[in-house]
Amino acid sequence: MKCIINRQEKFSAIRHYCLPELENKEVQPCFGINSDFPVWGNNYLLIVFLGGELGSYGMVQNFSKVKKTIQKEITNQLHNSYLNQIWPEFQQTPPTTENLARVIWQRLKSHLPLFKIQLFESSEIWAEYLGLNMEASVTIKSYFCAAHRLFIPELTQEENYAIYGKCARPSGHGHNYHLEVSAIGKIDPRTGQIVDLTALQQLIDTKVIEPFDHTFLNIDIPYFAKVIPTVENIAVYICQLLQQPISDLGVELEKVKLMETPKNSCEIYCRSSRSI
Ligand SMILES: [Zn+2]
Repeated sequence: MKCIINRQEKFSAIRHYCLPELENKEVQPCFGINSDFPVWGNNYLLIVFLGGELGSYGMVQNFSKVKKTIQKEITNQLHNSYLNQIWPEFQQTPPTTENLARVIWQRLKSHLPLFKIQLFESSEIWAEYLGLNMEASVTIKSYFCAAHRLFIPELTQEENYAIYGKCARPSGHGHNYHLEVSAIGKIDPRTGQIVDLTALQQLIDTKVIEPFDHTFLNIDIPYFAKVIPTVENIAVYICQLLQQPISDLGVELEKVKLMETPKNSCEIYCRSSRSI
């Protein structure tokens, strides 16, 4: 029986996003989501996913050994460090979160049966790396509030209650939606980025957050005049809105996850090769 287990570790570090070839110039044009603050710190959360067969002791790996390996090879070295100078890999390619995830994989792969590296620079931005050369994904989490009512106009109120329950009540109701948008692409060896996160965030804000926030979806968003705004249909529509603009940024929309409540969410895998 194959299983995937994961181990979380934390570290804090500072970095900057200046191109290595400009390192010694007096003026250092910086880029990225925090370009106004060239050097800043993050409290990173690292999640290491391991895959393998269950052994005779009922474990994939001994968690105690996994913990010691991650601490020795990664977190003890990175904690309280200046990332741009701590490892030689970052002399070539800056320690963006996606590149950091890639380098952590490279450093752990001979020690542990890796399945995936997930690295959070905050609760709203994280990267994933699966060992596929320079391919990585980044996810941005955003929020909007909106009201909706789930009902089919041609049906009676009783019939709508039978399908949608309380969600069919005539006056509608609201949710605080959490939206996760994941883009996948190749890490640029010069910038360390798969995409300009500022541009990606602006796109999500412009296409989804600003038009959707504080609306009654059924009335204010024309798409939902004929489509029931279930969490699934909203996620599908967000995929449609973002797919081409994200492609224009040079990456692919990998996944949209929309959480309607802490208990209800929908994920759409948007790449044709991975769609379900
Ligand atoms: Zn609802």
